[in-house]
Amino acid sequence: MKGNYTLTMIKPQAVKNQNIGNILALINNGGFRITAMKMLVLSNAQAKAFYAIHKERPFYGELVEFMTSGPIIAAVLEKDNAVLDYRKLMGATNPADADEGTIRKQYASNIQNNAVHGSDSDENAKNEINFFFATNNLYTSCGELVEEF
Ligand code: ATP
Ligand code: MG
Repeated sequence: MKGNYTLTMIKPQAVKNQNIGNILALINNGGFRITAMKMLVLSNAQAKAFYAIHKERPFYGELVEFMTSGPIIAAVLEKDNAVLDYRKLMGATNPADADEGTIRKQYASNIQNNAVHGSDSDENAKNEINFFFATNNLYTSCGELVEEF
């Protein structure tokens, strides 16, 4: 299972702009299966914890404020080489640098409000999936419980 899962969030502005369906369509058309999904509003403490890796960066406070500004979608995506392939599908962090056809090129408005999050390593994917989902509740696209990822 290792390497087959990543965690995405559809960020608040993309949810407000009614782009959930459009983004999920790009995800499915990109060969990813959605194996778990929920909508929630992150608390301040949750957003700070999720982005703790960036706590020394100048944009941390604004990032936490932005990520708590409305509902997000959190989802587990399944595909071979999920982490790297999803980062390709998302496009560059700054949408101005994102390639045509990527999610960020189409649905992001700036470097902070860049539509989606994607895990950056298998280890972080595992941590981030655990952050949002109970692992005894996670199913593969074949309907089997995920025992290891
Ligand atoms: P993500 O982790 O959300 O998938 P990423 O891995 O492409 O994005 P990171 O460097 O991990 O980019 O930054 C995390 C998030 O912090 C970015 O998605 C963006 O919302 C915000 N961010 C990054 N750099 C800046 C910046 N220079 N100014 C404002 N916000 C930023
Ligand atoms: Mg990142």
